[in-house]
Amino acid sequence: RMNVRKITTSSQALDGLLGGGIETRTMTEFFGEFGSGKTQICHQISVNVQLPPEKGGLSGKAVYIDTEGTFRWERIEAMAKAAGLDPDTAMDNIYYMRAINSDHQIAIGDDLQEFIAKNPSVKVVIVDSVTSHFRAEYTGRENLAARQQKLNKHLHQLTRLAEIYDLAVIITNQVMARPDMFYGDPTVAVGGHTLYHVPGIRVQLKKSRGNKRIARIVDAPHLPEGEVVFAITEEGIRD
Ligand code: ATP
Ligand code: MG
Repeated sequence: RMNVRKITTSSQALDGLLGGGIETRTMTEFFGEFGSGKTQICHQISVNVQLPPEKGGLSGKAVYIDTEGTFRWERIEAMAKAAGLDPDTAMDNIYYMRAINSDHQIAIGDDLQEFIAKNPSVKVVIVDSVTSHFRAEYTGRENLAARQQKLNKHLHQLTRLAEIYDLAVIITNQVMARPDMFYGDPTVAVGGHTLYHVPGIRVQLKKSRGNKRIARIVDAPHLPEGEVVFAITEEGIRD
């Protein structure tokens, strides 16, 4: 865990839960129901990575892979202004890529290594959401194994990028009730081989009253247990 660096979320509570912020060299998954704040956190990190280290950033750029069409430049503008960054520069520092289906998403993943080698200032790669195309396209029990296999390869590729280029990888996953329903599909697990890749850090998000959200770390022995509350405001993620 040497040389790991952190990106602030703009919430001290959430940073505390994460041991200081979103880590480089690691994949962090945010999962939770619709409206739980996954996409808002992704927007916030693509802004915050640009902050200087003394303000909790890495003076870096972001790659934002949008699979659901929910990315909004206006949100980047508002969050950048609130963070004291020039909005136009902040928008220029985000490489936006829209993945139209799972094959396209995988193709973008295949090209990322070369892209980041050429753009070493990229310090975060975001995939929001990593699962939606796969879920929509590979329906039915007979396609589960193929789905898991493709998704695993994609996740492994992203993890390798994090390690090789000392960057943070953030993925999101819309999950309703049980966090393990998707990655740990029992149908796929039968047969003994571990088909699913467990990302470095998994954060479960839940809706609370009004603009409040609850975050909880799942399966991370090195991080403290417990829940924290944060808020989604006009300015972005806050305590
Ligand atoms: P999904 O699974 O549907 O993608 P999500 O977890 O990505 O959901 P977000 O889109 O991050 O959810 O969160 C949506 C919530 O963020 C809205 O319900 C709203 O409360 C809040 N939000 C979005 N934009 C703003 C804004 N400009 N000002 C304040 N709050 C906002
Ligand atoms: Mg979303």
